[in-house]
Amino acid sequence: MLDEGLLIVLSGPSGVGKGTVCAALRAATPQLVYSISATTRAPRSGEKDGVNYFFKTKEQFNDMIKRDELLEWAEYVGNFYGTPKSFVEQTIKSGKDVILEIDVQGAMKVKEKWPSCVCIFLAPPSLQELRQRIIGRGTESDAAIRHRMATAAEELQWMKQYDYVVINDQIALACQKIQAIVLAEHCKKERMFGKFAGLLHEVTRQKETSK
Ligand code: 5GP
Repeated sequence: MLDEGLLIVLSGPSGVGKGTVCAALRAATPQLVYSISATTRAPRSGEKDGVNYFFKTKEQFNDMIKRDELLEWAEYVGNFYGTPKSFVEQTIKSGKDVILEIDVQGAMKVKEKWPSCVCIFLAPPSLQELRQRIIGRGTESDAAIRHRMATAAEELQWMKQYDYVVINDQIALACQKIQAIVLAEHCKKERMFGKFAGLLHEVTRQKETSK
């Protein structure tokens, strides 16, 4: 039987660099599959439907909720975001690891529904650095920056609910740390027991028959 993949949840405040870290991770780790979220937010310049997000109207998003097509969904700074469920389930069943890049509310919901998921919090080196990154992105109005900074301060308080914290001071280093976490998680004894159950059973049986 094929081993199932891992569900990895990556969160962190807006502007911390989740998108950049995820892109670098995907390029370096082909067996890590990125889940594309649905959102009611308008596309930013350069963003493409079906690549960055599935861009939906509020009505379309509500229909997805009604049809139970989302593993989780949340409202974030006035827009709705959600994870399409069937893609995640099918990919994990096929043996590949899936990474969700979602906010803290969504992460907590996934943790409840999928207890074996691995939650990683990507933290900024400091709040000042975070502010600079959001301003530097140049895509947000002043009001949106203030709103995102206030949300970021709240989000940081959720860090302790996560399994791992990775500080994003250098993208390459943050990626290496996440790859190391994923590798270690695959070696967890709980995940290996299934593989060795038959072997252990055989050893015990042989011991008993040789008595
Ligand atoms: P942005 O508008 O900057 O692309 O994303 C805003 C926030 O929504 C980020 O924290 C991002 O991780 C989060 N987000 C993106 N997709 C999802 C999703 O499917 N579910 C949830 N709960 N949050 C998401």
